[in-house]
Amino acid sequence: MPSRSFSRLIPITPRPDVVMVRGDGSYLWDDRGKRYLDFIQGWAVGALGHCAVEVRQALNAQAAQLLTPSPAYHNRPQLELAERLTRASRLHQAHFASTGAEANEVAVKIARKWGRLHRRGAFEVVTTHAAFHGRTLAMMAASGKPGWDALFPPNMPGFRRVPYGDNAAMRAAIGAHTAALMVEPIQGEGGVVVPERGYLSELRQLADEHDLLLILDEVQTGMGRTGTLFAFEQEGVLPDVLTLGKGLGSGVPVSAVIASERASCLEVGDQGGTYNGNPLTAAVACAVFDTLSKPEFLAGVLERGAELGAGLTKLAHRFGAEARGRGLLWALELSSPLAEAIRDCCFERGVLLNAARPNILRFMPSLRVRSAEIEAMLNVLTAAIAEESSTSHASP
Ligand SMILES: *Cc1c(COP(=O)(O)O)cnc(C)c1O
Repeated sequence: MPSRSFSRLIPITPRPDVVMVRGDGSYLWDDRGKRYLDFIQGWAVGALGHCAVEVRQALNAQAAQLLTPSPAYHNRPQLELAERLTRASRLHQAHFASTGAEANEVAVKIARKWGRLHRRGAFEVVTTHAAFHGRTLAMMAASGKPGWDALFPPNMPGFRRVPYGDNAAMRAAIGAHTAALMVEPIQGEGGVVVPERGYLSELRQLADEHDLLLILDEVQTGMGRTGTLFAFEQEGVLPDVLTLGKGLGSGVPVSAVIASERASCLEVGDQGGTYNGNPLTAAVACAVFDTLSKPEFLAGVLERGAELGAGLTKLAHRFGAEARGRGLLWALELSSPLAEAIRDCCFERGVLLNAARPNILRFMPSLRVRSAEIEAMLNVLTAAIAEESSTSHASP
């Protein structure tokens, strides 16, 4: 009998009493054989869906060739991934890690070194309230997640936060110590907060005016999630430093930091990591990139995204909620805090959704989700909202 002793794990989040044992495309199966339509996809990780054939083939082929020669030597998949990502982003140099938080740590190291070299020792990075940049100690300080500052003091210095979407506040926060501005093109964990058009290009202008670096954290929005390979393309801006993770490996832990020629200032000895650029995960990321960078793939993301958006908008009208998003990253903001109850109700009915906030549901399906799967999710969601709003005797 396989173990079900959940108490042997350090608890990190409330989890339902099931064990997930298999994944395929848009679906997960638990150890009792129940199937779930998955609109979480490992937190926007499963760009190609669960256990995609491209990922499995790349893993198998690379596993038979070379796993880790050590960062002391070059390996082919790492070089190929750096070529692909620098060319696609029009940036200069890449470094790889395993998680989004690590990639962001490197981005901040670049900003601090660049400030030391080019801005008389400036080190501060201005970030935004309700941002999410990861869970290392420094990234907790960079993030603006409510309540986090009290968790593990003392907090890492060198960060200052301003309201998201507010470039007047950003301008006011810039001072002699500022080295970089760091934002998500759309705040993902914050509840899919989509800024007004022009936000990123104004940030670019601010950075240029004050001679600062612009760091874009595209760990969630990158790799096709919003309908273009990178979200910044939709505003025609170019960051100085770009971070990627999540969808980059479509289920395999790999992340990237990519810097422009102007920003790329790390030298031998500044950065490392046992698994950085290991061929196993780099080979997977190359295969994922080759699949989702195709124009027809990205066109599909926009088409399915429009269907999901239309369905959620219809629901929003019916229940007095607000739908927002881009590509295949969407949120439904309810008028009362029923998100967790609705999530649990959908779970019972075999649909996996994330409650990003007590009143916000988030949708991040596989980028290969089918129209019929979107429709099936919307049907279950509609029933769940109707049921939960009638039990709570309030409109959602
Ligand atoms: C998830 C996420 C991170 C952190 O990635 P990990 O792989 O969990 O460390 C950082 N930034 C954004 C925008 C994210 O969505």
